[in-house]
Amino acid sequence: MARTLVLNRSFRAVAVADWRRAVTLVYMGLAEALDEDLTPYDFQAWIAASSNWAQVPGGFVSSPTTRFAVPEVIRLVRYDRIPHREVAFTRHNVFARDRYRCSYCGKRKPSDELDLDHVIPRSREGSNEWTNVVTSCRPCNLKKADRLPDEAGMPLKAPPVKPRWTLMGSLVPHPRAHIPESWKKLLSAETR
Ligand SMILES: [Zn+2]
Repeated sequence: MARTLVLNRSFRAVAVADWRRAVTLVYMGLAEALDEDLTPYDFQAWIAASSNWAQVPGGFVSSPTTRFAVPEVIRLVRYDRIPHREVAFTRHNVFARDRYRCSYCGKRKPSDELDLDHVIPRSREGSNEWTNVVTSCRPCNLKKADRLPDEAGMPLKAPPVKPRWTLMGSLVPHPRAHIPESWKKLLSAETR
């Protein structure tokens, strides 16, 4: 699904939003939609402008009464700080943190050949959180079973940590992530 790059008031990229969320922010007057030249539009102006465009990179959304372009970039009109974000604890994000490598043998695999492994097994009260869950290939996961790494003779390559959210980090590790052209010039200022 199309995503929208969210800039703060100072034109710094701060987030990536689902396009519906982005359109809602513009509709509520909390953000303005930006075209390719970074010209700002409020919601009504965006709809009016959309009717003159034959083609846009993000595509169009149509309802019986209106049709408008999906904004690829929006700018929050009141927001200067970079919002603090928590990285969602999900299977994909654990794989991304570990760069799709088994934490025991170090082999890199596609996600459908990877499992999540609880370092301290769940059967031994191991918690289900960033610092106790790692990426594991199937053979290592089976071999380790309900043991601690020490007991199994399978030391971790690195201790698991809770990742900090970064804009690029939220995009790049995903193997299928597509970065639209319009984002690139805005994101280049973000890379450290
Ligand atoms: Zn392995």
